[in-house]
Parts: sequence; structure tokens; C-alpha cells
Amino acid sequence: MRANARRRGARSAVVAAGAALLVLLAGCSVATPPAPPVSPVSPAAAVPRVPPGPPAPRTVVSLTFDDGSRPQYLVRPILSDHGMQATFYIISGFVDHPDGSTMTWDQIHGLASDGNDIGGHTRDHLVLPTLPAAQQRSEVCDDRNRLVAEGFNPVSFAYPTGVFDPSSEQAVKDCGYRTGRSAGDVSVTGPEYAERIPPVDPYATDALATPTTGPLTLEYMQAAVRAAAAHGGGWVQIVFHLVCQPSDPDYQTCMNSEGPVEVGVFSSFVDWLANDAPAGTVVAPVSAATAAD
Ligand SMILES: [Zn+2]
Repeated sequence: MRANARRRGARSAVVAAGAALLVLLAGCSVATPPAPPVSPVSPAAAVPRVPPGPPAPRTVVSLTFDDGSRPQYLVRPILSDHGMQATFYIISGFVDHPDGSTMTWDQIHGLASDGNDIGGHTRDHLVLPTLPAAQQRSEVCDDRNRLVAEGFNPVSFAYPTGVFDPSSEQAVKDCGYRTGRSAGDVSVTGPEYAERIPPVDPYATDALATPTTGPLTLEYMQAAVRAAAAHGGGWVQIVFHLVCQPSDPDYQTCMNSEGPVEVGVFSSFVDWLANDAPAGTVVAPVSAATAAD
């Protein structure tokens, strides 16, 4: 989790003011004769409190990457340079695909070693409500077991295509996950500007809607965070699929895929989150955003 610079600054100022006040009080007690016995007052109540300003709404942004596609590995240094962690939802049956389209286990281990959250996205990326309950369970549990066998601690799950039904929700819960991400009901224009913290239903959490056409733009992502912050904060999960690099020969194909992001745009967004996002904005992987706090 990473607080933005403005929030850190504000917190430092409060700490400094508190320290100065304690020094002042300590100085006074030397010159003042012992006070007569009075009714007990708790130490906390005896220290005058600096009235706080209105707290900024807390907006938690989770950067989530679906499907384990190979180009997503491009964001690893961008995240680590900013001290940020993301969530990567892996389809265990597709890892290290012979066509080179997905990350290798080594790359996924590299992401995990930076503190990124490795979550599950089923074994074969089948749409769960189309399957019998027993097969839903094996898709979810087999995938999670494989991730566990690789040494990960998967607590976050994302439904393929975002769709679920009661039995698939139950499977996600029974297989050992703490959360299940559904689809994009969170919107820049409301009425739902953010998922609640804690979520209304942890096994059906709402993410930011992916634009129906075109790539994710810097302006769109900034607008989503600003809109959440302006409406009381909450949890904004941004869903990334392909990450496109202009120097790649397949760049245009990549940019024509569903909800892609250009690597430079992602980098600019992360810079903005670190330095210029609304006060109270933090970036956290799903595993941390949903941990008890
Ligand atoms: Zn997917």
C-alpha cells in the first residue's frame, strides 16, 4: 500500500505538531507545583488534542491484470520503481503457453517476489455459469491448488468475463478465496463511483467498467479515481488486459483488443497516482485492500 505524497506530507505535519505540543506540556509540568488530587483522568483525556481538519476520503485503487498475458510483464519494473504492488489473475492452464502469449512461471514468481498479489482466474478460463456445479468447483479449486503448489498464497479471484452465479460464488468461497471480482459496475458517471470497503459481497466485487471500445486512456483512469474521491472514496479496481508497446510489431493488433492499455499510459497513470492523485488515495493489491483493517 502506498500513500500519495500529499497525504504523507499532511501526516508528517500532524506528527510534528503533536511532538511540539508534548515538549511544551513537559516543560510546563516542571514549573508547576503538584496538582491536588482530583478525580482520575485518563492520560489520553489529559492531553489537549489538536482539532483535526476534515479527513480526506480514502480511495483505494487496485491495479488488476487478467489472464497472465506475456506483455503484462512489461509493467513489473514500472510498479517496482514506484513501490507499488498490483494483482495478477492467472489462468494456471494457460501459463507458459506454447505460442508465447502468456507469462512463464518464472515471470510470475518474479512478480510475486516484488510483493505483487497472485490470484486465480480458473484453470481454463471457461465461463462458470455455463458449467455444472461440480465442474465449476474443479475449475476454481484445481487452479488454486496449482497456484498453491507453485508456492503462492492466492486469496483473490476474478471470474472469467466477470460473470458468476450462486454456485460459482460458493465454489470460490469453498476453494479458499477471500474475494471474487465480478465485472464493471463502477462508473465514472455513477451511480456507483466505487465499491465499498469492505465490499457489499466479497464474492461479487464491482470493478471499474472497461470502455466498450478503444484502449484505457490516462484521462479515463484519472477521472475514475477523481470521481470516487469526490463521492466519499471507496475501492476502485481497474481491470487491465493486454499491455501494448509501440515498438512491438503487433502494436496495432494489441491496441484493437478489448480494453488494452499502452505501456506509456500505464506508466503515466502510476506516476499520477504516486504524486498527483486526490488526497487520501492509496494503491493496494486486492489482497491488501480486502484485508481486515
Ligand atoms: Zn479473463
